[in-house]
Amino acid sequence: MTEVMSKISIEKISQSKITEVDFNNIVFGKQFSDHMFVADYKDGKWSDFKILPFGKIEVSPACAALHYGQAVFEGMKAYKNEQNEVLLFRPLDNAKRLNISAKRLCMPEIPEDIFMEGLTQLIKLDSEWVPKTEGSSLYIRPYMFASEQLLGVRPADEYKFIIFTAPVNSYYAEPVNVKIETSYSRATEGGVGYAKAAGNYAAALYPAKLGQDAGYQQLIWTDSVNHEYIEESGTMNVMFHIGDKLITPNLDFKTTLAGITRNSVLTLAKDLGITVEERRVSVTEVINAAKEGVLKDVFGTGTAATIAQVASITFKDDKYVLPKIEERELSNKLAKMLQEIKHEKIEDKYSWIH
Ligand code: PMP
Repeated sequence: MTEVMSKISIEKISQSKITEVDFNNIVFGKQFSDHMFVADYKDGKWSDFKILPFGKIEVSPACAALHYGQAVFEGMKAYKNEQNEVLLFRPLDNAKRLNISAKRLCMPEIPEDIFMEGLTQLIKLDSEWVPKTEGSSLYIRPYMFASEQLLGVRPADEYKFIIFTAPVNSYYAEPVNVKIETSYSRATEGGVGYAKAAGNYAAALYPAKLGQDAGYQQLIWTDSVNHEYIEESGTMNVMFHIGDKLITPNLDFKTTLAGITRNSVLTLAKDLGITVEERRVSVTEVINAAKEGVLKDVFGTGTAATIAQVASITFKDDKYVLPKIEERELSNKLAKMLQEIKHEKIEDKYSWIH
């Protein structure tokens, strides 16, 4: 037994809620598994590790996170293989990214062993909640927030780290119509775009809503200086298949989240012999490629949908329709490979499965 494991106290739910769930018809984001993992940070250290029935937590009205936004989170999924074993996809990468986010928001890091042990114990206890049906999975939400009762603007001294989970149905993503955003920005250089900070998502809601009202399911975010270079698509990283190359914005400007799916897709594509370029991608380059008929594919990458193909791109008043989904050989293949790796249907040669 590891040191952390021996310190986790477990209080089981008296009556599981699993019978209330129709696994063929899960209400997304509304049904939660039986338990949650909670840890507290106080006096400079993490302690009080516990697994409890999923339920309300008490916070002060002066809880610092509610006022000054010290809150970061992660999103990941658990799957099942043929033998009914629960599989996690690159969980340590989520732990590392949470700590990168925490550091930027002046929050304490959560030691990787606590993250991993809390996660593993929780998923073991709620393993029945991991759907078996093809494409379905258990969504996992680890997060941390400043829990201190505090009015002054300064880094809080007390935090909570929590993990809860929710079963999700197979996510079939209809190809989306996107608009290249030329007024609003998601992130700026020197800002917090590379962190999975709660405030980033709040700030994106308004421009995303304006886009949706105008008929675009998602926005392609561009740089905040001149809206000349592409950064992300909605809450996903974005990739362009132009000619024979797979091109994606690089991460050097720290305005883009370092997606775990992004990294996995690039690794698989390179292995397939595709030329991969991580560099600045200008709006002009993409539009010219569309005009010249060499823009074969555009797709988002992220945990929620794995790969979300784009149906059309609108820039200013011009709409560019992309090739039919059946013709998108590369993204179709990459999506299939990732799905198979996540369910251990093909060899996991990168040791991504935990
Ligand atoms: N960008 C943003 C802004 C996101 O919220 C996400 C989802 N976490 C991603 C990219 C994709 O990251 P990942 O592949 O790790 O899910």
